[in-house]
Amino acid sequence: MGFRVLKFGGSSVADATAMSRVLDIVAGETAKGRVVVVSSAISGCTDGLLACTAGDASGLPALKERHLAIVRRLFTGAERADATAEVTALFDEMAAAPADEKVTFGELLSTRILARKLACDGFAVHWADSRKLIVRDDLPETYRRIASALADTDAGVIVAPGFICGDSTGKVCTLGRGGSDYSAALYAAALGAESLQIWTDVPGIMTANPRQVPSARTVPEMSYRAALDMAEHGAKVLYAPTVAPAMEAGIDIEIRNTFAPSGRYTRISSTPDASPWVGVTSVSGRICLVGTPEGDFSLAEKEVRETLRTAGIAPLEVRTEGSVLLVGVRGAVELPALQALHRAFFETRPVREVNLFIAGFGAVGKALVDMVERTGATVTERTGKALRVAGIADSRRHRIDLGGVSALEGGVAGDFVDAVIDLAPKGSVFVDCTDSETLYRRYPDLFRAGLNIVSSNRRSFAVPYVEYAAMHAAARENGCFFRYETTVGAALPMLESLAIGANSSDEVERIEAVVSCTLNQILSAYGQGPTFASLVRAAQEAGLTEPDPRLDLGGRDALRKLLILAREAGVQLEEGDVDIRPMIPASLFGVSLEDFYRGLEEMEPVFAEAHRQALRAGCRRRFVAFLEKKADGYRAGIRVQQVPEDHPAYHLKGTENAILIRSAFHPTPIVIQGPGEGARQAAASLLNDILR
Ligand code: ADP
Ligand code: ASP
Ligand code: MG
Repeated sequence: MGFRVLKFGGSSVADATAMSRVLDIVAGETAKGRVVVVSSAISGCTDGLLACTAGDASGLPALKERHLAIVRRLFTGAERADATAEVTALFDEMAAAPADEKVTFGELLSTRILARKLACDGFAVHWADSRKLIVRDDLPETYRRIASALADTDAGVIVAPGFICGDSTGKVCTLGRGGSDYSAALYAAALGAESLQIWTDVPGIMTANPRQVPSARTVPEMSYRAALDMAEHGAKVLYAPTVAPAMEAGIDIEIRNTFAPSGRYTRISSTPDASPWVGVTSVSGRICLVGTPEGDFSLAEKEVRETLRTAGIAPLEVRTEGSVLLVGVRGAVELPALQALHRAFFETRPVREVNLFIAGFGAVGKALVDMVERTGATVTERTGKALRVAGIADSRRHRIDLGGVSALEGGVAGDFVDAVIDLAPKGSVFVDCTDSETLYRRYPDLFRAGLNIVSSNRRSFAVPYVEYAAMHAAARENGCFFRYETTVGAALPMLESLAIGANSSDEVERIEAVVSCTLNQILSAYGQGPTFASLVRAAQEAGLTEPDPRLDLGGRDALRKLLILAREAGVQLEEGDVDIRPMIPASLFGVSLEDFYRGLEEMEPVFAEAHRQALRAGCRRRFVAFLEKKADGYRAGIRVQQVPEDHPAYHLKGTENAILIRSAFHPTPIVIQGPGEGARQAAASLLNDILR
C-alpha cells in the first residue's frame, strides 16, 4: 500500500483536545494506506525556544507545563509516567543543548507524544528521525535516505518531526520558520506518496488571509504556480519551498482544516486555475494581487488604482511582475487597502433577489413582464437587485413558479392572492395592474404576509379615506412599501412631487391637473372639422375611453385621479367633496349608448359655441381637475375650463397630461407635463416603483 503524508501545524497540536482531533484524522487515513505523520511543535513553542536561545528563558516553565498537561490528558497509568519522564528528559536535554540547537526540541516533543499515543492506541508506529533523514540543501541524498529508511517499513504509521534536519556535516539544523510543510513535501516526494495533506487552522488557501479579510473564501482548486506565488508573497498558510518537491513528484497538495476535517479545502495541482485572479496577500506594506496568465494586468492596474482612489488611498507604486501585481502602500493603510482590493477583485456585490407577482396580464402587465426580461441584467448592474417574475394572473387563472414565469400557459384557476400569500417569500412585490374594483380589499392581507405592493390600478384608491388610510397603515405596520405613481399621469412623477411637499410640511395652495387622456384628446382635436360626438365615438373605437365613454365625460376617471392627488398632498378629500361639472347633461346618462350619441350630436351647436367663445378670449378648453386652498379649507372640482396661452395645459395635445402645483414653498408653480398614458410608460413607472 502507498504512503499518505499528513502534516499537522502548531495549532493542530496545540493541546490535548487538538491532538485528539489529529489522532482521529490519522486513524481515518490508516484505512487507506501507510501514513506518515509530520508534525510541528505545539503552537508558540518555537517562539519560546528561540527566546530562550536569545537569553530569555522566562517562558520555559509554562511551555513545559503545557506539554505535561497534554501528557496527563492523553495517558494514564504507566504510560503517563513514561511520557512524563520523556518530556522532562527532553526539556533537560534542551537546556544542555548548544544555543542554536534548542529550537529543534519543539518538534521532538510534539512528535514523541503523538507517536507514543498512537502506539497506545494499537498502531504499529515508527518514529523517524528527521535530523538524520533530511539533509539540508541536498535533495537527492534526502530522498535516498528517506526511501531506504522507510520504503519497506512494516509500520502502519510513521511519525516524523517537521522543521528539523541535519546539514551535510551531520549537524542538527532547521528548514526555516514554517518549514514543517516542506518536511512533509520531502517525505512525500521521497516515498512517491499518493497523498500529501497539510492540516492547519483554516479551510485551505483562501482569497486573502481570513484574519485580515473576514470575507475571504477558500479557493478549491489552485495551480502549483499560483500557490507558489501566494506563498512567496505572504500567504503564510503554505511555506513556499513546499511546492517544488510536490510538483516535481507530481503529487497534489491538499490544504485542510483540522478543526473542520470534512469542510472546504484547497487542492493544489497542475490543473490550470479556474479564474484569472487567485488571491491577494500582503506583507509589510506590500500587497500582491496574485493572478494567472489569463489575467489582463494592464486593466487590473487601472482597476487597482481606481479602487484605491475611491478608498482614499494613494498607492506608492503599482506594477506587474510576472503574474503578480504588486501594490505598495504606507503601512498604516495596508489593511484598508487590502480589504478594498479584495472587495474589488473577489467579492461580487451581493445581489438581492426580488420576486414579482403580477395581477393583471393585459397590455400593461405584459409590457412589464417583457421589460423585466429585457432589462433585468442592466437593472441588476445598476441597483444590485435581481428581478424575477414569479407569478402572473389574469382574471381567470394564474401561474406561480419561484423559478420564473413569463406566460400564463399552464395556469390554474383559483385565488391568486391566496396562492401568493402561501408561496411568496417575504419582501416580494405584488403588482396590481388590473382594473379590479375589489382587489384592494386584499392589500392588507398581502402586507401582513410581508409583500410590498406596487399598483397602477387607480380604482383601488378611489375609496373612502378611511379605507385608503387603513391600507397605508397596514403597509407601515408590516414594514412594506406601497407605491402607485402609475395611477396618475402614467410615468410622470406627479405623486412624488406632491409627496415631497407633504413630507416637508409644504402646504399645497393649488393643484390644477389635466389628467384625463380621453377628454384631452377630444378637446384638443375639437374645432378642426369633426363633431364632438364623432370625436367621442372615434376615441371609443380606438379603445381610449372606458367601455362606456360617459364615464370619462362624466369626470369619473378624473375624480379618481384627483382623490389620489389630493390625498398624496395630505388633504383628506372625499368623493362627495368634489364638485363635478360633467361635459354632458344628466339627461344623457340614463339612456342607451345609441341615444346618448344621438343626443350628443344634437348638442353640437353648444360645443361649437363654447369653442368659439374660448377662441375669442384667446383661450383653449381643457378638462381640469383642481384643488384649491380657501380660508375655510380645500375646495375641489372637475370641469371644463378656459385656459389662457400662458397656462401649461394650453399646449397639451392628444393624450398628454399636465399638473401645476402651487404651494407655500413654491411661489412659481411646479409644472409637470408629458405623455399621460401608454402601456410602456405605465410599465416603466411600475418598474421604477418596484426598484425605488
Ligand atoms: P500552521 O501552524 O498550521 O502551519 P500557519 O500559521 O503557518 O499554520 O498558517 C496558517 C495561517 O495562515 C492562517 O491561520 C492564516 O491566518 C494565515 N494565512 C495567511 N494568508 C492566508 C490565506 N491566503 N489563506 C489562508 N490562510 C492564510
Ligand atoms: N515550528 C516551526 C515554526 O514555528 C515550523 C512549523 O511550524 O512549520 O516555524
Ligand atoms: Mg505553517
